[in-house]
Amino acid sequence: MAKPVILAVDDDPQVLRAVERDLRRRYAREYRVLRADSGQSALDTLSKLKLRGDPVALFLVDQRMPKMTGVEFLEEAIERYPEAKRALLTAYADTEAAIRAINEVGLDYYLQKPWDPPEENLYPNIDDMLGDWQADYRPPFTGLRVVGDRWSPESYRTREFLARNRVPYRWLDVEGSEEARELLAHADSGAPKLPLVVYEDGSYAEAPENGEIAENIGLQTHAGHQFYDLVIVGGGPSGLAAAVYGASEGLSTVLIEREAPGGQAGTSSRIENYLGFPAGLSGGDLARRAVDQAKRFEVEILTPQEVRAVRVEDPYRIVTLGDGTEISCYALIITTGVDYRKLDAPGVERLTGRGIYYGASQTEALSCKNEDVYIIGGANSAGQAAMFFSKHARKIFILCRSNDLRKSMSDYLVRQIEEKDNIEALLETSVVSVEGENHLERITMKNSVTGETQTVGAHSLFIFIGAAPKTAWLDGVIERDERGFILSGSDLMRHGKRPDGWRPDRDPFLLETSIPGIFVAGDVRHGSVKRCASAVGEGSIAIQFVHQYMREV
Ligand SMILES: Cc1cc2nc3c(=O)[nH]c(=O)nc-3n(C[C@H](O)[C@H](O)[C@H](O)COP(=O)(O)OP(=O)(O)OC[C@H]3O[C@@H](n4cnc5c(N)ncnc54)[C@H](O)[C@@H]3O)c2cc1C
Repeated sequence: MAKPVILAVDDDPQVLRAVERDLRRRYAREYRVLRADSGQSALDTLSKLKLRGDPVALFLVDQRMPKMTGVEFLEEAIERYPEAKRALLTAYADTEAAIRAINEVGLDYYLQKPWDPPEENLYPNIDDMLGDWQADYRPPFTGLRVVGDRWSPESYRTREFLARNRVPYRWLDVEGSEEARELLAHADSGAPKLPLVVYEDGSYAEAPENGEIAENIGLQTHAGHQFYDLVIVGGGPSGLAAAVYGASEGLSTVLIEREAPGGQAGTSSRIENYLGFPAGLSGGDLARRAVDQAKRFEVEILTPQEVRAVRVEDPYRIVTLGDGTEISCYALIITTGVDYRKLDAPGVERLTGRGIYYGASQTEALSCKNEDVYIIGGANSAGQAAMFFSKHARKIFILCRSNDLRKSMSDYLVRQIEEKDNIEALLETSVVSVEGENHLERITMKNSVTGETQTVGAHSLFIFIGAAPKTAWLDGVIERDERGFILSGSDLMRHGKRPDGWRPDRDPFLLETSIPGIFVAGDVRHGSVKRCASAVGEGSIAIQFVHQYMREV
């Protein structure tokens, strides 16, 4: 943490040098002594200190300065640092002004020039003031700060990105936080675009893209090399497992992840059926452990970075990234999973990120404190989310189209839900429309049996209605089924015939796609079981076939 600041302000260069020298001699070990030659330049310094979150312990200011007197400066300075101690440097003739300042700006002390010897006339008083300041001082949070609006999709995107990449940050809502308003006022434009991301060193960015934030906080977004034995696209459980097995078996490996390692599992609040964790574990924990393990084996993890295209120049497989750069490899594993299916109802698209979210956003959980939360979906992901939110929200309503949760949700979850007083399942119910000016305000639901509709006030709606793969970037290269899932192994064989253009003198390996050396694992594979353990299993098994393939290259 930065040392607290003592700021000396004087327009007389000789006096300023003398104050600075005497202050440094005694306080430099514990305080940063800064100087300014006018009230205005001191205020500019304060703006920078404020953005960096650096504390100020003491102002020592000359009263007689031509453009801004010491008292005028203090009036403005204490608005920014109300807790800082204030001392005026005065000549005999300024005594009256100094006495008035005791009331006007809560002056702590005034010092007559010259102050020699400082041991008698300066240090004892300054020691007193700093002692008082230290006693009341609580160090501020000095990490990354995000100033935004709870209902803005851009602010949500930034917070979600930071949370999922496990970057600690402090969220300051413009609606309720004094600190947020102060930070906005100190940004150059005075009315910056939100979210305002204030970095640890005090620099800031207005509504930055995730990639820009990543660069600033030291996440790796560019590959260290142009060629690897193995490239893995997607950092969910499957990709992370492939990375750990590949790298631990000696393959130079890079994993490319569009959002944050962990994939869908990373958004799960509690996975209870993963082997070896009898008490369950959160998806965030699973991702953190897997990332640490992969890094231990020297896997390079690029995030956020998207793969946009793939092509073959035998013996190489080449991927093009979102920033236009390319990486080549011998073997490629695609583990891009599935994305949430979108709810098609009037108003939903406009209010997404403004009270409507896909998945159980942990970022939003605290904001839902003491509110009613609506969850759409009847599968395990919806059930887990309901259990998760039940710790924070007043009441949770699960809206499910079927007449029995047990039809699509695991029995253990249904039992947990039934035991919770603040969760209610609204069966045979779907959302027909949503409304709100700047954020979600009302939901209209319909019962499919009675045909009755009901409109309720609501601020939070979380949607879990299944998922589909996003594999359009493989068009014309890799064979997929009609829903976009990638075909592999024996699924590619038609009437005993190998896929079109297939060159090797063998059938495709298990998990190998229609292009030799390109493999698929996890939820994006045609016919996959949509579970963490199977994704991890497939990611690990794929490495076995990568080795077999590489013997052919
Ligand atoms: C809320 C929720 C709760 C769940 N709970 C459980 C549970 O309790 N037990 C259980 O077994 N399963 C559970 N599942 C299912 C489980 O999480 C998935 O089966 C598993 O995550 C699939 O892993 P995957 O690696 O195949 O794909 P994903 O987890 O979907 O990961 C794919 C990754 O690829 C990235 N990606 C996609 N396209 C690109 C691209 N072009 N370039 C770079 N990166 C890309 C994505 O950003 C994503 O991170 C749950 C799922 C959800 C959503």
